[in-house]
Amino acid sequence: MTNDELFNEAQQFIPGGVNSPVRAFRQVGGTPVFFERAQGAYLYDTSGTRYIDYIGSWGPMVIGHRHESVVTAVEAQLRKGFSFGAPTVIETAIAKKMAGMCPNVDMIRMVNSGTEACMSAVRLARGFTGRSKILKFEGHYHGHADLFLKKAGSGVATLGIKVPGGVPEAVIADTLVTPFNDVKAVEQIVARHGNEMAAIIVEPVAGNMGCVPPVAGYLQLLRELCSHHGILLIFDEVMTGFRLAKGGAQELFSVNADIVTYGKVIGGGMPVGAFGGRREIMQKVAPLGDVYQAGTLSGNPVAMSAGLATLNVIDAAAGIFKALENYTSTLADEIRKISSAAHAPVVVNQMGSMLSVHFCDTSVQNFEDAKRGDNETFRKFFHHMLKNGIYLPPSPYESWFVSAAHSEQDLAATISAVKDFFE
Ligand code: PMP
Repeated sequence: MTNDELFNEAQQFIPGGVNSPVRAFRQVGGTPVFFERAQGAYLYDTSGTRYIDYIGSWGPMVIGHRHESVVTAVEAQLRKGFSFGAPTVIETAIAKKMAGMCPNVDMIRMVNSGTEACMSAVRLARGFTGRSKILKFEGHYHGHADLFLKKAGSGVATLGIKVPGGVPEAVIADTLVTPFNDVKAVEQIVARHGNEMAAIIVEPVAGNMGCVPPVAGYLQLLRELCSHHGILLIFDEVMTGFRLAKGGAQELFSVNADIVTYGKVIGGGMPVGAFGGRREIMQKVAPLGDVYQAGTLSGNPVAMSAGLATLNVIDAAAGIFKALENYTSTLADEIRKISSAAHAPVVVNQMGSMLSVHFCDTSVQNFEDAKRGDNETFRKFFHHMLKNGIYLPPSPYESWFVSAAHSEQDLAATISAVKDFFE
């Protein structure tokens, strides 16, 4: 079957032909590519065409696809059993590993997705503080739980959904929203509602409205506001955890959160999420405390073996984050140079191995800025790159992800395709 035929068939049985709307190419048009296999920095579609992959399964594949250590660990676990619904040693091993790598995280609870991690983190913050309001930021995405679907980024932004169906107003009435990187706005809303707020949840480097780093001092300000008002600070490190630094954004910005959520990299490509924090907070989680949270497949040994092997590789690879930064900042600089020589209005945001290209001429520091991008030019750029074997996120509201498997040749090929586009 051709790719179009595969997609037509999928659409008959799966809404939109995809199991997550971000894969649907709605922003850029055309037919999503069906993939068959992956290796290192490359994806191969069903007809065998190779693509340099800048999605990395939307973040998890920071050491590349099918890393030898991960394959070996998963194969070994498959021979022992898929799921026991009882404790396994590997769960302790990964929790210990994460606690060792991340600042300020004493205990960890494993779940099955980033969504679960974030909704459980908020429940914990509410249980711990006895308050109900939370504050999130415009264009940030913390998964598809009801309470986060207010001015959310990622697929919600891409599809332009203003009022998400099936989410009663009462359920999200306690979700307050303010623009990211706006110091006055956050100070004002906390001054007004601070004593009713259980948590401020933030993507420390936003990756769901493109890549939008925090302005200098912004995360420190959130920390101070939270400490002053008895609010818990939740860092959603589902994207940034084990990607921006060993200890994620907490380490990179030297800011301690109260609760941290993880996902993506910690599953090494398997469905995993987690939330963790200081002992006194995590002791509120059942069975120690009354904040109930559970999961039939949580801490699944196959998923844990992929995650632990991935974290071991990251921990042992000296210079991995420097190399990721070098590749990605070179790519960002080259795109800036090429587009500026062509007098094209382009803003490139980059932090570590995260990057995004916005077709506008003013800096992109929040969701309103990101929305100013020219979608038609993005669409053309995306399809030009795809034709040249470069697989980018099919929306300007998503971050690109570079992996440690990307080579100098991949960098050169990517830059050359960018040049072709602008010349
Ligand atoms: N938080 C952030 C920052 C994310 O980027 C995502 C997913 N892109 C989530 C939470 C939700 O994770 P999942 O899709 O695994 O539910």
